[in-house]
Amino acid sequence: MILEDKEFGEIIVRKNALSSGIKFSVSPSGRLQMSVPKYAGNFLIKRFLNSNRELIRKKLPLKDPKTQRARDTKKKILMKKAKEYLPYRLEYYAKLYGYKYEKCRLSHAGTRWGSCSSTKTISLNIGLMNVPEKLRDYVILHELAHLNHMDHSTEFWAEVQKHDPNYKDHRRRLKHFDPGV
Ligand SMILES: [Zn+2]
Repeated sequence: MILEDKEFGEIIVRKNALSSGIKFSVSPSGRLQMSVPKYAGNFLIKRFLNSNRELIRKKLPLKDPKTQRARDTKKKILMKKAKEYLPYRLEYYAKLYGYKYEKCRLSHAGTRWGSCSSTKTISLNIGLMNVPEKLRDYVILHELAHLNHMDHSTEFWAEVQKHDPNYKDHRRRLKHFDPGV
């Protein structure tokens, strides 16, 4: 649920059956997030919010509503670019090296560039569109190698190296970029 607030902009309210109190946090877009018990109604939520404004202002690194919206737009553009590129790049390398995956998912997880599940779904972070092509390809080849090795064993790295001989350098350079978009 989204709550409009004059000061904080859009507030993301999540009802959580397990939570007993109200908790504040910051969403990746810099919005205020509230985790509230399932029974909490709007009146209670607003009252709690109002009595904690001072604390929120002081403690939470919220972005102003304008910046929040600018980030939404940036993300939308990035998602569009990613949709037109990443699934095809993944398919290209899979075909080239004989890998079979189930599905390609686009994510904006914020903490990781990609992942490969045991059900052979490969997730790629849309933030990859902001990194140089060689590093982007390294991530794709890394996730494809996970289809054969679900760990980071010596065998896994040997397979990555087979398709990306400079993977060590690419891996190191990737650390200078932030997957959070
Ligand atoms: Zn990995």
